[in-house]
Amino acid sequence: MQRLSAKNKAVGKTIGLVPTMGYLHAGHLSLVKKSKEKADITVVSIFVNPTQFAPNEDLLKYPRDIVHDKKLLKKAGVDYVFIPSVEEIYPKGFQTFVEVDKITRHFEGEFRPIHFKGVTTIVSILFNIVRPDYAFFGQKDAQQAAIIKRMVKDLKMDLEIIVCPIIREQDGLAKSSRNIYLSVQERKDALVLSRSLKTAQRLIKEDTKSATAIINKMKEEISSVSTSKLDYIKIVDKEKFEEAGSLSVGKKYYILIACKFGKTRLIDNILIKT
Ligand code: AMP
Repeated sequence: MQRLSAKNKAVGKTIGLVPTMGYLHAGHLSLVKKSKEKADITVVSIFVNPTQFAPNEDLLKYPRDIVHDKKLLKKAGVDYVFIPSVEEIYPKGFQTFVEVDKITRHFEGEFRPIHFKGVTTIVSILFNIVRPDYAFFGQKDAQQAAIIKRMVKDLKMDLEIIVCPIIREQDGLAKSSRNIYLSVQERKDALVLSRSLKTAQRLIKEDTKSATAIINKMKEEISSVSTSKLDYIKIVDKEKFEEAGSLSVGKKYYILIACKFGKTRLIDNILIKT
C-alpha cells in the first residue's frame, strides 16, 4: 500500500482515504462517492481495529463480509481496497499510541474510556501508510470526526479531513453496521432516536434556547419506548465539542444521543444551525 501510494503521488495524483471497519452500507458508500469527486485515487481501508474495543464490547461478533464489501467497492469504482491483518498493524512489540486529550474525555469517551485512543492510533497508522491528501469521515460519529480534526491540527498532519452527512434508512434510522444486531421490536423502537432529534429541531425552530428543556423533552420521548436505555443526550457546540447551557443565535451545535436497545448500543446526532 505504501508503494502504491508513493507511485501515485510521484505522478502528481491526489489520494482520498475512507477508513472503515467493513460490513459496508450506503453510509460508507457516500464517503466513497465524496472521495471520488475530490481525489484522483480513492483508497478504502477495511480493518476491525481491536484497540478501540473494550474487553466487554463486540470485537469478536462485529459483523464481517469481505466478499460482499469488495463487490460493493468494485461497483463504486474504488481504486484500492486496503485490508491489513491485525498482525501487520500491531506486530509483536507494538507500544506506541496516539491520544487526544480533553475532547475525548466526555460523551462517548465517558462510556467507552479506551475507544478514542484506539481510533486515533489506527487512523494515524492508516494515514502514515496511505499518505492521503484527503480523508473522509461520517458525521454519524461526530465526536470521532472532531477528535480526528483536532489530532490532524495538533500534530500538523498534512491532509484535509472532510466530514460527510449522515445517511439514513427511509424511516429515519441512521445506517450502521450494528443495526443487524437489533430484534424486530428493537429496530422499531430505535426509530425514537431520529424522532426525538426531529422534536429537538422543532423546539429550536420554535425558539427554545434552554438545552435542558430540549434534552428533557427528548428524554421523555425516548423513555416512552420499552426497549430503550439511554446513555446520554448532550448539546455541544460544533467546533470545540463543549456542552452548551443555552443556545446562542448564529451558532452551530450537535445534539448527540447514545442509547441502548436491548444489548445494542446506537449513536445518532443532528447538526443544528440556530
Ligand atoms: P465504521 O465502519 O462504522 O467504522 O464507519 C466508517 C466510516 O463511515 C466512519 O467515518 C463513519 O462515521 C462513517 N459512517 C458510518 N455510518 C454512517 C452513516 N450512516 N452515514 C454517513 N457516514 C457513516
